[in-house]
Amino acid sequence: MFELAGKRVWVAGHRGMVGSAVVRRLASEACEVVTADRSTVDLRRQAQVETYLNDVKPDAIVLAAAKVGGILANDTYPADFLYDNLMIEANIMQAAHENNIGRLLFLGSSCIYPKLNAQPITEDSLLTGPLEPTNEAYAIAKIAGIKMAQAYRRQHGHDYISAMPTNLYGPGDNFDLNSSHVIPALIRKTHEAKLNGDKEVVVWGTGSPRREFLHAEDCADALVFLLKTYSGDQHVNVGYGDDVTILELTRIVCGVVGFTGKIVQDLSKPDGTPRKLMSSDKLRGMGWAPSIPLRAGIESTYGWFLESTSKRSQ
Ligand code: GDP
Repeated sequence: MFELAGKRVWVAGHRGMVGSAVVRRLASEACEVVTADRSTVDLRRQAQVETYLNDVKPDAIVLAAAKVGGILANDTYPADFLYDNLMIEANIMQAAHENNIGRLLFLGSSCIYPKLNAQPITEDSLLTGPLEPTNEAYAIAKIAGIKMAQAYRRQHGHDYISAMPTNLYGPGDNFDLNSSHVIPALIRKTHEAKLNGDKEVVVWGTGSPRREFLHAEDCADALVFLLKTYSGDQHVNVGYGDDVTILELTRIVCGVVGFTGKIVQDLSKPDGTPRKLMSSDKLRGMGWAPSIPLRAGIESTYGWFLESTSKRSQ
């Protein structure tokens, strides 16, 4: 057990969808949460990270900072995804070690697993086969992060752990169509199609890939659970436990938004990996389960999107 009460916890990446959800979730724990804006600490610069940790000296770190993006962004900017993520992980873990910070939770992603892995994917599938090419750079950086956490645990005795969330969505997501993941993209596209009176909405690829989706609030709850209760070498999958095809997902989004037109495919865009349903048996076995069903989560995310677009246009 890691007792959070009275501890100072640095949430790195607090502006992101997951980091901000972790900050909100930690508000109900008796700990002090600290954050650093990008203008104060560029996490890709080692000296800046060292100075920050030396000044602030947290007891624990949630490493939710990362360069993230959807299939097109990952495929187009592999150097950025590899460099930024490797630097962030390496700088934070080394500076944490130098400051003798003994507790750290590193966040990865389900894309670390082989492209054609048996489903549902268990933790021990890591490094057993070739990766999905569209997000290989990001996956390699995240695999390096898992291995770093294990190495600092083994060599220095620090209690660093890793969690691998499935595809996430929720309030605070990125709705830019070129860099977003599929749920925010579909929410925005169907919303705009409805407003414009369009007859159709376009989905990338065939619509047949399957994806598992977890709401960011559920993910944050699981991460705090792991921070408080888990100590171990192996990373832990954080999933929802069920998946849908992209076409089924599009129908749900259309239903939530109230768009009744046709769904058409853009076959010039990639499908990515055919399926990546994770086994979350390990986490379930520890006593954690998600509580936000997909449709309800999309409804509240659509509500957040409407609010934030109306604020922006004021
Ligand atoms: P992935 O899980 O790394 O492939 O990330 P994404 O969330 O970007 O994409 C998931 C699946 O949704 C892929 O098969 C995409 O081709 C498909 N997809 C369909 N329409 C869209 C869209 O408008 N944007 C994105 N990002 N993906 C889409």
